[in-house]
Amino acid sequence: MTTVAAYAAPAAKAPLERTTIERRPVGEFDVLIDIKFAGICHSDIHQAREGWGEAIFPMVPGHEIAGVVSEVGPGVTKYTVGDRVGVGCLVDSCRECDNCKAGLEQYCTGGSVPTYNGVGKDGEPTYGGYSEKVVVDENFVVRIPDGLSLDEAAPLLCAGITTYSPLKHWNAGPGKKVAILGMGGLGHMGVKIAHALGAEVTVLSQSLRKKDDGLKLGADHYYATSDEATFKELAGTFDLILSTVSAPLNLDAYLSLLRTDGAFVNVGAPEEPVKLNLFSVIGGRKTLAGSGIGGIQETQEMLDFCAEHGFGAEIELISASEINEAYERVLASDVRYRFVIDAATI
Ligand code: NAP
Ligand code: ZN
Ligand code: ZN
Repeated sequence: MTTVAAYAAPAAKAPLERTTIERRPVGEFDVLIDIKFAGICHSDIHQAREGWGEAIFPMVPGHEIAGVVSEVGPGVTKYTVGDRVGVGCLVDSCRECDNCKAGLEQYCTGGSVPTYNGVGKDGEPTYGGYSEKVVVDENFVVRIPDGLSLDEAAPLLCAGITTYSPLKHWNAGPGKKVAILGMGGLGHMGVKIAHALGAEVTVLSQSLRKKDDGLKLGADHYYATSDEATFKELAGTFDLILSTVSAPLNLDAYLSLLRTDGAFVNVGAPEEPVKLNLFSVIGGRKTLAGSGIGGIQETQEMLDFCAEHGFGAEIELISASEINEAYERVLASDVRYRFVIDAATI
């Protein structure tokens, strides 16, 4: 076991504080990663505050991990010491179910292991990226291409793949009108990726405060959802709406913005249920769907795609002592556009 410094929430809703945790010895197929940067995802906040239900404490959040390999187990074939690597939301899965075999480990039916707030196959709680080092099976590690800096790459491990996967699955591309709902961590990556895929991109944000940024990141249009005129003007417009909103929404209003056969795909994970009038999907044969992160192979594909197109995330680099303040700013939709912790400050 190795003792490493980490930031943890000791109990639900308690501020995060510096502590130490134990990392398991490097096993046959494990890599030891010196963490350099860890992104703050809104999911970290939902879980640290038990907004999604009972959680495991102390909790070391963080599933947007970028670092460098510092040791490998004897059976490791994919990585060597010095490689630049990332770890996202999963650190293991059953590897045997149909979904695992299809590269959809995020939908594993045999029991996947989340990077934190979960229990590993060894029966021990998992601890995430707000720490100095992590030990992960090589099959759940991805390579960060040379063209991406590690700090701007970290948020791709969740925000990047969670938007890339549905945009690809629902064929965002040339000739498609795609709306990204919410311009935070996930949303701003959705804008960059949908633009790079060749779609006509519209941002639907609560206000026009971030309009200039949205247009710079690749949006063609930008509308405020607080303005009722937006819903009249855009009625029946979109092939695809990707919602990244972390709070309950008026789904019926957004479904009215889809054209016939359009899809509203939800990746936001609000703590409260939402209401729906089913007539909103009957008229226009519309699809209401959801999507969760992405598989390991698709995460690698997304990283390579971002490197090819020359972009990572827009980040605000913070020291670990600023985590609690950053959480408050995320909750206030005051993030531009991902907080990333410099792990050297942990
Ligand atoms: P974030 O940075 O806080 O972005 C969420 C954005 O939603 C905000 O920037 C804001 O955008 C908008 N928003 C917030 N409150 C709103 C409200 N009351 N009404 C309307 N819009 C509101 O969060 P994130 O890290 O991108 O995560 C977004 C959500 O996705 C979270 O619920 C998170 O848990 C979830 N998530 C899901 C997956 C998955 O696999 N499905 C993966 C990662 C995260 P504007 O300021 O532009 O309006
Ligand atoms: Zn996340
Ligand atoms: Zn499985």
